[in-house]
Amino acid sequence: MLRVSVRRSLLVTSCALALSVSGLLSQSSGPQPRPMPPPIAAPQDTPYPGTIRLAVDATDLDRRIFTVRETIPVRAGEPLVLLYPQWLPGNHSPTGRVEKLAGLTIRANDAPLEWTRDVVDVFAFHVAVPAGVTSLDLAFQFTSAIEAGDGRVVMTPDMLNLQWNSVVLYPAGFFARQIEVAPSVRLPGGWQFGTALETASNAGGVATFKTTSLETLVDSPIFAGRFFKRVDLDPGAAAPVRLDIVADRAELLDMKPEQIEAHRAMVQQAYKLYGSHHYGHYDFLLALTDQMGGIGLEHHQSSEDGTVPGYFTAWDTNADARDLLPHEFTHSWNGKFRRPADLWTPNFNVPMRNSLLWVYEGQTQYWGFVLAARSGLLTRQQTLDAIASTAATYDHRVGRQWRTLQDTTNDPIIALRRPLPWRSWQRSEDYYSEGQLVWLDVDTLIREQSHDRRSLDDMARMFFGIGGSSYVPVTYTFEDVVQVLNAVQPYDWATFLRARLDGHGPGAPLDGLVRGGYKLVYTEMPSDYFRDSERRRRVTDLTYSLGMVASDDGKLTEVQWEGPAFELALTVGTQIVAINGAAFSGARLTSAVTDAKGPGAAIELLVRIGERYRTVRFDYHDGLRYPHLERTGSTPGRLDQILTPRK
Ligand SMILES: [Zn+2]
Repeated sequence: MLRVSVRRSLLVTSCALALSVSGLLSQSSGPQPRPMPPPIAAPQDTPYPGTIRLAVDATDLDRRIFTVRETIPVRAGEPLVLLYPQWLPGNHSPTGRVEKLAGLTIRANDAPLEWTRDVVDVFAFHVAVPAGVTSLDLAFQFTSAIEAGDGRVVMTPDMLNLQWNSVVLYPAGFFARQIEVAPSVRLPGGWQFGTALETASNAGGVATFKTTSLETLVDSPIFAGRFFKRVDLDPGAAAPVRLDIVADRAELLDMKPEQIEAHRAMVQQAYKLYGSHHYGHYDFLLALTDQMGGIGLEHHQSSEDGTVPGYFTAWDTNADARDLLPHEFTHSWNGKFRRPADLWTPNFNVPMRNSLLWVYEGQTQYWGFVLAARSGLLTRQQTLDAIASTAATYDHRVGRQWRTLQDTTNDPIIALRRPLPWRSWQRSEDYYSEGQLVWLDVDTLIREQSHDRRSLDDMARMFFGIGGSSYVPVTYTFEDVVQVLNAVQPYDWATFLRARLDGHGPGAPLDGLVRGGYKLVYTEMPSDYFRDSERRRRVTDLTYSLGMVASDDGKLTEVQWEGPAFELALTVGTQIVAINGAAFSGARLTSAVTDAKGPGAAIELLVRIGERYRTVRFDYHDGLRYPHLERTGSTPGRLDQILTPRK
């Protein structure tokens, strides 16, 4: 870098000399920056005049195209900037897919009107509104993903997920809560749908919703499908809570009474924890599918929950899918009603700042598992096994040497969930599950300090349960979090939290396990939870032995930084062809690790990397290693108390 710039400046100097001699250049030399386009109007907290009409046709299942017609009231003779949502709540990142907006035409009084895209902010469209024009008619398409490589698939022959941020342009210069929209959608014949929106009418294949703010509209997506079932999770309640389920096939909607009971118990356990709720009704939009893209996205009065087809029908093998709903439900309190102050934005084109995601996502991850255990969605053993997996993962996250947990809160913007070849070294969105360990640490410390009279449950009620049934978000800062913890149990929480957020280890924050009466151990047998997770991911997970994960077809999907596989220069994408001279299978790989234990011979793998073959020898003799939690005798079983249902 330095060398290049030195050479360039020498060149420029000699040119400048030549030019100044000829009298063409006097003071400056080289190119000068052109001024940026004028800034786009910052959002103001004043009502946008008039109501936007937004009509979406979602019937083109074969082409997966959403067709949009939008009428926007405007001020005659004034310039207008229309924005396509870029910063999406719950994504914590600029993930709006503006490249999928196509066919944009604007008409005024039936005459076409040209638009110009902003060359700096490509999500902004400039329009000069002629005199005498009081509304614009827009038409465009959202060309949704056809294959998974092209983005998340949101439309299949049997279901669709309409996210309003994909199908709306809105005027710059106003808070999203100050822009009124009257939305409607045409759905395929005979389909049913779930949404948090209030339906005004549903006739002739078109569902029309009551006028709402743009903020609430974008927060209220739709799941619709050919195969649909609605389950009441809180019968007789003033604020209904429902499962609105779509599925790839009708038979996937079969569920057992005890499965419904566990979901109902989850709602009641959340109410016991938080002491209030902040919605008029709540809809879990649940998709049982391997055709539509997976999702877990929180909203104030609903959540988008895309999960495994066998969520109900293969219940026993899908335990690791069952913290999803309590996680997203918790977000109605933590994330939507209470929101980090720097994350809250007035519209969808103002950048978000993610410094408190270790609360927003970390504590939600914590309560997701606790509520799953308290409600019976997970057994106590499954929950302990899940926590063991998390503890082991982050205990091996060597990247903390260079990157703090705090810095990982920037990851949604940095990595945009793109593949990471060295996840254990690069780190990822670690504030979720390492955050979970930090909150276990906090919970058990409150319990220890208060002689088990108080707990993180008290913080949850004091922090998230305020404000009665108000829907209006209440923001929070780091200082607010410290303050409420001090109100629950006086302690130097600021120092405690900063040490975990800004520290470099070594190892994961596991004090919460110790105070909870457990320790992390490794044995040669995986837990059922671990094995189910391997089956669902279609992998053989040898992270804690050979330092790698292989897919069912033998391709490496993870390599632990500085682990045994790393030392042999194996990487993600390496294909294992043979194990000790025999063709690859996951079972053969685990057997080979067991056979090599102690005095056994080294494990020999034939691997293929691109067009080249190579033989590698693992001189590894410690056998299989899988994480578990083991009860320690000396400490009260606080973790067991945490997982016990509230009365
Ligand atoms: Zn979340």
